[in-house]
Amino acid sequence: MNHYDVIVIGGGPSGQSASVRLAQNGKKVAVVERDFIGGICVNWGCTPSKAMIESAKIVEHIREAGHYGVEVNDFQINFNRIAERRNAVVKAVREETEDLLRHHKIDIYQGEAIIEAVGKVTVKGGKLDIDAETMHYDNKDVALTADHIIMATGSAPLIPPGITIENPFLVNSNRLISIDELPDSLTIVGGGVIGVEFATIFSNLGSKVTIIEFLDRIVAGMDEDISIEITKILEEKGVKILTGYRMTEIDDNGVVTAECRHNDGIDKIHSSMTLLSIGRQAVVNSELCDRLGLEFTQRGIVVDDYLHTNIPGIYAVGDATGKSILAHVGIQQGLICAENILKSEGEELRAMNYDVIPAVIYSLPEIVSVGIVPEVMTDVQVVKVPFSKNLRAAIEERGTGFLKLWIKDYKVIAAQAMGFVVSEIIQELTNMIALETDIREVVKIIHPHPTYAEITKSALEYALNQAVDFYL
Ligand SMILES: Cc1cc2nc3c(=O)[nH]c(=O)nc-3n(C[C@H](O)[C@H](O)[C@H](O)COP(=O)(O)OP(=O)(O)OC[C@H]3O[C@@H](n4cnc5c(N)ncnc54)[C@H](O)[C@@H]3O)c2cc1C
Repeated sequence: MNHYDVIVIGGGPSGQSASVRLAQNGKKVAVVERDFIGGICVNWGCTPSKAMIESAKIVEHIREAGHYGVEVNDFQINFNRIAERRNAVVKAVREETEDLLRHHKIDIYQGEAIIEAVGKVTVKGGKLDIDAETMHYDNKDVALTADHIIMATGSAPLIPPGITIENPFLVNSNRLISIDELPDSLTIVGGGVIGVEFATIFSNLGSKVTIIEFLDRIVAGMDEDISIEITKILEEKGVKILTGYRMTEIDDNGVVTAECRHNDGIDKIHSSMTLLSIGRQAVVNSELCDRLGLEFTQRGIVVDDYLHTNIPGIYAVGDATGKSILAHVGIQQGLICAENILKSEGEELRAMNYDVIPAVIYSLPEIVSVGIVPEVMTDVQVVKVPFSKNLRAAIEERGTGFLKLWIKDYKVIAAQAMGFVVSEIIQELTNMIALETDIREVVKIIHPHPTYAEITKSALEYALNQAVDFYL
């Protein structure tokens, strides 16, 4: 009874895509989840953070309302209500996810999955002490067998060396995203994607925010122009940004010591909470891997382009592989892994391609990137068009930011942008890069007017010396 075609360990986005695709194709599938279905993404990541950013955005709109002729004389931020809405959104999305799995007749087991051997999994039943309305347990170990096992075990926050998480003033993103009271002040260690999103949320809602960043600019993975702009915008909101600083200590009163990497400068920052957001690391049970002979590195479980581990019958997908810490990459890996399992012997397998991955930072305004900015600029044309030249942005007075393109042989090879709703315009550029579309063909396609998306056509026309709607 407990034999499955496939057991998926982990009910996050990568486990979800793999299990649904397999079940859709007639496979008997079990998902084992030790926490909440939906994984980090639904419960502590994408969903709650974007729910809170929406509240932060509303605050920004209200603050600007007078400029648009709408006088708002007084308003209050009710953080309890923001937290309630966030929790309700998370619960609804989690329930939808569970419902989807059940719709596809996927069995959900609640508990810790231990791989005993190839094809053998024990689910250690156990009760959680958090709200568990939608869960069911029997507190007994369950033995499962399967032809294939997919490890979709996700990632956890990295802790800087020498820092112990036991300090009550220290929080990781899971805890900060679940809080019910607004901290008066918040120190964020790490000015990457997660750090900047939290700085956006909490500075807009009224916390005094400080960012400590080891590198010499925040969002250092992006083009320097973007780092400069977002630094300016956050500083205008009162965020203090220390770049080139390393957190060395947090004392029992919550005072963080940060040392400058370039001189003897030391800053002492006292805040109600300190978030550690210096990155995430794959969840890998090294003991279990050693016992099984499963290859792993510090980054995660080693997989080939087909999502195979070194052990036949065991696969890994999502953050656990250390290839990326993005839900959409995990979803794609899950789908490809499932499709490869579904193939008959001898059929050509589908390989994962990591070359074209769109990434979004949900700051206000948003930041996006896709493609690889070339190191050698020979024959590369770089075009930068400010949103102030886009009619929709001009009408709505959302001219902050720009679109920057790297073009070679009439093909876009990389794109980065900062601006209002740029998360919604990046897909066109992603498709162009992935499909290696000739930009001379794209400019022939009608784009709706006036839209933010028109900036792509405008920038391509500009690159071809054919811009008809603006000049620089
Ligand atoms: C604050 C924050 C915001 C984010 N925002 C975005 C965003 O906007 N867009 C984006 O693309 N990404 C975002 N991410 C990243 C995204 O959440 C992850 O990339 C995504 O969740 C990875 O999916 P996954 O399925 O690989 O793993 P996870 O979502 O981590 O799921 C893994 C699951 O496996 C379970 N598990 C682990 N070991 C076992 C075991 N032995 N037995 C049973 N269950 C087990 C865990 O409990 C977990 O539920 C964000 C992350 C954070 C922290």
